Amino acid sequence: MKPNYVRVIIDRAIQREFDYSVPETLAERIGIGSRVRVPFRDKSALATVLAMPEHSDAKGIRPIEALVGEAPAISESLLELAKWMSAYYCCPLETVMRSLLPQVIRRAEVGWKKQLFVQPLTKIDSDKIDNLRKRAPRQAELLEAIAKLEKPMPAAQLLRKTSFDNQTLRALAKRGLIELREEAVERDPHAEEQFIETTNLELNPEQALALNKITDALAASETAKPILLHGVTGSGKTEIYLQAIRIALERGKSAIVLVPEISLTPQTVERFKSRFAEAHEVVAVLHSHLSEGERHDEWHKIHSGRARIVIGARSAVFAPLKDLGLIIVDEEHETTYKQEEAPRYHARDVAVVRAKIEKCAVVLGSATPSLESYYNATTGKYELLALTQRVDHQRMPLMRIVDLRQERRKEKIAPILSEKLSQAIADRLEKREQTILFLNRRGFSTSLLCSNCGEARNCPNCSVALTFHRHMARLSCHLCGHTAAVPKKCPACGKDALIYAGFGTEKVESTVSHLFPKANVRRMDADSMTRKEAYRETLRNFRTGKIDILVGTQMIAKGLHFPNVTLVGIINADLALHLPDFRAGERTFQLLTQVAGRAGRGETAGEVFVQTYTPFSPSIQFARHHDFAGYFEQELEFRERCDFPPFKHAILITVRSAHEGRAKLSAETLVRRLKESLGSEFILGDATAAPLEKLQGQFRFHILLRGEAIMRLSRLVRETLDKLPLPEDVVATVDVDPYQLL
Ligand code: ADP
Ligand code: ZN
Repeated sequence: MKPNYVRVIIDRAIQREFDYSVPETLAERIGIGSRVRVPFRDKSALATVLAMPEHSDAKGIRPIEALVGEAPAISESLLELAKWMSAYYCCPLETVMRSLLPQVIRRAEVGWKKQLFVQPLTKIDSDKIDNLRKRAPRQAELLEAIAKLEKPMPAAQLLRKTSFDNQTLRALAKRGLIELREEAVERDPHAEEQFIETTNLELNPEQALALNKITDALAASETAKPILLHGVTGSGKTEIYLQAIRIALERGKSAIVLVPEISLTPQTVERFKSRFAEAHEVVAVLHSHLSEGERHDEWHKIHSGRARIVIGARSAVFAPLKDLGLIIVDEEHETTYKQEEAPRYHARDVAVVRAKIEKCAVVLGSATPSLESYYNATTGKYELLALTQRVDHQRMPLMRIVDLRQERRKEKIAPILSEKLSQAIADRLEKREQTILFLNRRGFSTSLLCSNCGEARNCPNCSVALTFHRHMARLSCHLCGHTAAVPKKCPACGKDALIYAGFGTEKVESTVSHLFPKANVRRMDADSMTRKEAYRETLRNFRTGKIDILVGTQMIAKGLHFPNVTLVGIINADLALHLPDFRAGERTFQLLTQVAGRAGRGETAGEVFVQTYTPFSPSIQFARHHDFAGYFEQELEFRERCDFPPFKHAILITVRSAHEGRAKLSAETLVRRLKESLGSEFILGDATAAPLEKLQGQFRFHILLRGEAIMRLSRLVRETLDKLPLPEDVVATVDVDPYQLL
């Protein structure tokens, strides 16, 4: 039966569905999930087909203008996923669609790259060439080369190879001897690279057991639980993923591998491309550095079924693969899986839901699982698989805690490098081994204070101090990007009494270079890695031993393998601990464990120095003893006592405005309305000034809600907000399962 009508949502969020009629000519090809162009008000707009009703009661129905793309862009399962996200994350379906379909596909502005191909028109015999040689010897020579081609060749490539010019080629075409034809070509970001095929490694017993369980889940995908693979760094998780994907592929299924953007390094990609090197197209890679054109082509490669494995960051969870068999979420605890703009989804949780909808297996892997996932494993919602040994039977690195309070007593001011840590670095330099120094804070000095009046230089738009960056000799705000010149005198009291306080990676780099003038020191953070190539280059130089000491932010904490690194120094372990965030302890534990995992992956055992003012805080102590179970137990107890996840879901509403009073009033009104509509099963906090009171010129107020029935809570919040008219300059955003509480 041919569809009469389509029900669509328009890309621009208006939170309503509209009906259109379907012209005869399009009826055969249109389907649920198709992208269409429709007349809307007096313009035309892009939209997605949600349903195809036989009747419509809408008045003044107009026909759709065009169908965009051949097959429906979005499968029915993905549409179901989008609807779930809309309900769960308290966010319009149109906004969800923005994440679901890459912009290049949504806007349908970028097309295929066209290239001119050369092909002999008919079989060219030597007579023809000899004939031509008398009149146009150069043309004849080129024709001879073309006659030898087995298949059409891009004109540019042919000319480059034969060093003829375009004119000669055109002349041949004019004579009707060859054909020049435009054809679409794929932009492959990895076209130039060669991947040498690798084969399965023989698994150790723990790995084999884990793979078996995953294979079982692949077979019983309708009923299998999500799997949490808890394996220490270097325990061979990736090898298991590779073998599980191979099995899925053999069964005619496809697979998605999610990795945090930061660990989507050339190394990671190479491992996957090499294992499946039998067909160049089979692995598609999605990350934020792709050009529009490349993203367009990768998406089509996946959508058309030529790619069967997708490896990518957060949004790859929406990859339009058919016959999905397996989703892997590596480093599932990573907070970068959470999108910090609407739709504020968490890719790991979306992966679990997509797996349920598509009836496929899902594996969450981590050396330091999130509290939520581990809790799900202990309650039986997930299945827990553990890898307790490193593949190479390496011992875990030795963790040494350096008490900065004692160091301060010795030196009056706390040094950046304690004596113990600098001795350890000197020792490594002597042995020609490498060191990583970690500090999660950029810049040189983190504030500029007046020692006379106590005023700090704050950002005019945000409630934070400006950081001094020495390489640009300016003050800069890490939140909004505002920069300012460094004043000579205190602008508040006029005294020449400004002092620099606090330190970031830039200062660590300069201190270390100063202390070890012979060592080659490099810094890796968002400031020093602005060029795309700089990152690869620094990693390469570190790998080949040209760099002795690498100083960096979280950029260096994750997923990098350097066998010659035997020392890791954590300059200040307390940075995360003092954030007003219930996950502060969890983050510290994870960070210490992950950073420590960088030490001693080769022949030599590693050593980690943790500098801290709170040596007895539980997350530091448990990380020191590599005691995940101990840490989990005490953290869980704290969360239960305070009604935090995983026991209760949280929703954070932020109300902001350039006008402080209006933001506050709106937040307070919202709290009153919520009080009326929420039952007593939910915990509703007061409207409070956000820890980061002012951001980019906007005053911010927080309302925190908690409860178990998250879908219901989400719905009630949406309904309350929809009914509450906010002043024009006040914005309320809703974050379900928030990770940013600032
Ligand atoms: P993880 O992902 O848990 O950090 P990897 O899969 O990267 O661990 O494994 C660490 C190293 O050990 C890699 O170099 C990998 O090739 C190697 N490896 C993994 N499994 C085996 C095995 N069964 N036999 C030999 N080497 C292995
Ligand atoms: Zn700012």
